Amino acid sequence: MPSEPGVALITGASRGIGRAIAVALARTGRHVIVNYRSRQDAAEETLAAVREHSTGELLELDVSNPEAVSAALDGVHARHECLEILVNNAGIRNDMLMIWMQQDDWRGTLQTNLDSFFHVTRPVLKQMLLKRRGRIVNITSAAGEVGSPGQVSYSAAKAGLIGATRSLAREVAKRKITVNAVAPGFIETDMLEGLPAQELRARIPLGRLGKPEEVAALVAFLCSEDAAYITGQVYAINGGLY
Ligand code: NAP
Repeated sequence: MPSEPGVALITGASRGIGRAIAVALARTGRHVIVNYRSRQDAAEETLAAVREHSTGELLELDVSNPEAVSAALDGVHARHECLEILVNNAGIRNDMLMIWMQQDDWRGTLQTNLDSFFHVTRPVLKQMLLKRRGRIVNITSAAGEVGSPGQVSYSAAKAGLIGATRSLAREVAKRKITVNAVAPGFIETDMLEGLPAQELRARIPLGRLGKPEEVAALVAFLCSEDAAYITGQVYAINGGLY
């Protein structure tokens, strides 16, 4: 793939899928902004991996906090004229049966997994609209497409992201901005901690968990010039799970 310079912001890039996306985009020559919430040690490791291929910087920010996002993105826009790529990847799991779920559990999951999309995307989109170019990729989940017991709030947030992806894609297509979603199944990251890996593998036709790099390769393609005619789509990457 030819080098495609530009600035990319990846939320939740200190670990897991976000880190792999940051490295994949660095390989294509992008300056990568590595967002994280609390794990600075891990974020530094991502940045070092990014710098093996390109340039980058850290952005400590809780994407569920609207005031903090607004202030941080003002700073980003002061440093960089325009972000060409935004990957909304930050997410948390908070599994419990609906019958036990309290208002705060519900709100907390939605704030991080769905409200963050609004807080981060809106200011970035403003600049993309002016520049008439941009790539937005939202990381949703198989849970948002087919549902998953114990994940009512998480699935609601991820399904919400899919609806937002499809509608926003239609709003901004005229300005050459594409908006797509990627829906991973079970990917080997910290997020799967505590889940029975053996049982999960048995449910997956390809017989193994996915690798963060496999998700990252798909995201990198969607962010490339070659994907200019793809928008409003949801790509499942799940080893044949459904
Ligand atoms: P992970 O290994 O647990 O990493 C989560 C990342 O999100 C970390 O970088 C974390 O930062 C960041 N983060 C969490 N809350 C944040 C907040 N409020 N503000 C900023 N950053 C925040 O998770 P992962 O498996 O890579 O998941 C990445 C995305 O893929 C998530 O949206 C997840 O829902 C989705 N997904 C994952 C799987 C899977 O099987 N792994 C399947 C489907 C979908 P800190 O390191 O600072 O905490």
